[in-house]
Amino acid sequence: MSSMSSYISGVVQELPPSGIRKFFDLVTQTEGVISLGVGEPDFVTPWHVREACFYSLEKGYTMYTSNLGLPELREEIAAYEKRKIGVSYSPADEILVTVGVSEAVDLALRALIEPGDEVLVPEPSYVSYAPGTKLVYGKPVPLLTYDADEYRLRPDILEKAITPRSKVLILPFPNNPTGGIMKAEDLQALVDIIIKNDLIVLSDEIYAELTYEGEHVSIASFPGMRDRTIVFNGFSKAFAMTGWRIGYACGHPDIINAMNKIHQYTIMCAPIMAQMAAIEALRHGEGEMRKMVDNYNYRRKLMLNGFTQIGLSCFEPRGAFYCFPSIKNSGMNSEDFCEKLLKEEKVAVVPGNAFGNCGEGYIRCCYAASVGNIEEAIERMGHFLARHRKG
Ligand code: PLP
Repeated sequence: MSSMSSYISGVVQELPPSGIRKFFDLVTQTEGVISLGVGEPDFVTPWHVREACFYSLEKGYTMYTSNLGLPELREEIAAYEKRKIGVSYSPADEILVTVGVSEAVDLALRALIEPGDEVLVPEPSYVSYAPGTKLVYGKPVPLLTYDADEYRLRPDILEKAITPRSKVLILPFPNNPTGGIMKAEDLQALVDIIIKNDLIVLSDEIYAELTYEGEHVSIASFPGMRDRTIVFNGFSKAFAMTGWRIGYACGHPDIINAMNKIHQYTIMCAPIMAQMAAIEALRHGEGEMRKMVDNYNYRRKLMLNGFTQIGLSCFEPRGAFYCFPSIKNSGMNSEDFCEKLLKEEKVAVVPGNAFGNCGEGYIRCCYAASVGNIEEAIERMGHFLARHRKG
């Protein structure tokens, strides 16, 4: 068949495939692999939440909902965010239910960015922010975060990167892949810079519940920040609901309304059965969620201790469910390390450079895997390092 690639828009042609997906194609072709790769809970969605979906089908809830999402769900989200971050949002016009946080990020970028506008993106970070920015002809500007700073975003690094075209700052904390969090004092140090430079913040708080040191703090809760922050959260991680595809955005009605305009023409609404399940998760799911978070915390320590024992230096993650150890003493780059580890020891991890160039020299290991698999993977990685360590 002749090539059709010349028909593809330039901006799409230039987008690299996701570094995570690229690697996973290799994993599915190999048998007996222990995967610490996918960023996904290993728990099945709690039974009472699944049941709520069955009942919704039984009652014949099979139609579209309001574009913004079911009013009862928006009410539960408003109550949840008030409890969680102490910020009040009106269910009438300040909350939009989306198809995962993925859609919410895309909508916000499309609603806010004009060609050439700059989006400040801390790195390493989740893979979709820079491509999402490029798709709307914006310019992603990396803000590097470092192991030595516990992967917090430093105010001087933010300030230096700001230009007259800077419009949006993404705050992806707790962070995928580093496990870094921003405490109240870290956020406070950014607030004046954000307000002085009139930035809008997209605060991706999808891992907020998975905070192991103190409580998650949202920048939206600081004076002067509520109306210039869009808070994203969802059900994928904390409630073990990745496949249901439900997330949401909370913020100023003008921005939520603009996002909803795009949402109504492209998606219409998130699926009603998943919205019904999400209502149940918020009404009765927090106890179950706490148990899962305690369990991740146990496995976080297990993986971290294991890495120390095999001589892999690793920042102690404070949130999310990833460790991000340095592999610099192997003498390999991240991609070679991951490919060889998969081939020789059948352990799948993700190269750190999938999360930005500054992730080179690191790998992402997800500890939402069984205790047995974590222990076995660490043992295999120990053998691998013993063979390959430099010097
Ligand atoms: N934001 C971050 C930081 C993530 O790590 C992920 C998924 O891994 C997403 C957003 C996407 O989440 P969702 O399943 O809600 O689309």
